[in-house]
Amino acid sequence: MYCPRCLQRIHRGANDCPHCDFSLPVLLAELDDAQLVGPCLSDSAGALKAKERRALNHLLERFRYQFPQVSVAVHFETLPFETDLRERAFFLQNGYQCSGSDVPVEQSLTVLLDMEKKEITMCYGYAFEEMLSEQMTFDLLVKTHPYLLQSQYLRAIKVLLVAVAKVLRRSGKRIWRSSND
Ligand SMILES: [Zn+2]
Repeated sequence: MYCPRCLQRIHRGANDCPHCDFSLPVLLAELDDAQLVGPCLSDSAGALKAKERRALNHLLERFRYQFPQVSVAVHFETLPFETDLRERAFFLQNGYQCSGSDVPVEQSLTVLLDMEKKEITMCYGYAFEEMLSEQMTFDLLVKTHPYLLQSQYLRAIKVLLVAVAKVLRRSGKRIWRSSND
């Protein structure tokens, strides 16, 4: 996995980054709403209209149906200027669970959009690291940029989910825990 602060590779499951001392437990303690449970789509920023929200919920539902081994959470937030987008995504990935989902954190994926800076990032568990390099992740996120610039957030997420689905179809089968493990 990669350190969300200095972006260096760190040992999977490590609590602290040996390069910059970034500490996940400290981050979780700093943000005292650790281990939140909530809907797969959260829009505290009010980025989506009611109709778009329904459409995105429907998309996420279809995604869950197609990939029941995977949990995807999408968050629209308005972050304080000094908050680092990747750190916040890392926190949500490790500290937020979709209600009703029993998918382990290793197989979950978090998409975070900051409405303040109009930025998007994606953070995911270990299972994805075997099929998604940093470069591929970057390439997937770049696909959403034209839509973000036009404030077409639903479209942006749709493009991203289609691209992630393609990756999962191509390489996911080898990786997921089988049900009789
Ligand atoms: Zn670091």
